[in-house]
Amino acid sequence: MSQAIKEASKAKKVGEVPIGAVITCDDKIIARGFNKCIILSDPTAHAEIVALRKAAKKLKNYRLNDCSIYVTIEPCAMCAGALVNARIKKIIFGAYDVKSGACKSVFKIAKSKKLNHKIEFDGGKEKYLNKECADIIKNFFKGRRKNNGGEQGSTGVAEVMTAGRSWSMAPQKSTEK
Ligand SMILES: [Zn+2]
Repeated sequence: MSQAIKEASKAKKVGEVPIGAVITCDDKIIARGFNKCIILSDPTAHAEIVALRKAAKKLKNYRLNDCSIYVTIEPCAMCAGALVNARIKKIIFGAYDVKSGACKSVFKIAKSKKLNHKIEFDGGKEKYLNKECADIIKNFFKGRRKNNGGEQGSTGVAEVMTAGRSWSMAPQKSTEK
């Protein structure tokens, strides 16, 4: 997970929401990715998708049966769906995304009985550096709010403690007092 956090830091440096992912196969990292939606003008360029594309290319296989993904935040519906399509074996995430997580928080795509592949998952635990994973995002949005005119951030911060990917968690409404 520390490697996924490293990826998240790369996203932060370029102004992207800091989420990172690595994909492993036989306990070796075969692909890395960080959120690149803005850079690529691509709403699908979440860290998981970026890493997934690299891993599939590397293995020359669109199925990643023996692979696991480590991602700093619980995957969203799009990413969880892509991971199911890739037949990923396991998802390990750092912090829960209470606003859009699709393993457990909002949707339960990873283990849905309606889909023909189920992904084991585990996350939101200290051993997966959940606090560090949440902090990097939390601080990112805190900094952003500050840059947006020093608005009192107390509304958003508590959410962000456990929340992750949700774009809406950065309260940038100018009406907020
Ligand atoms: Zn996603």
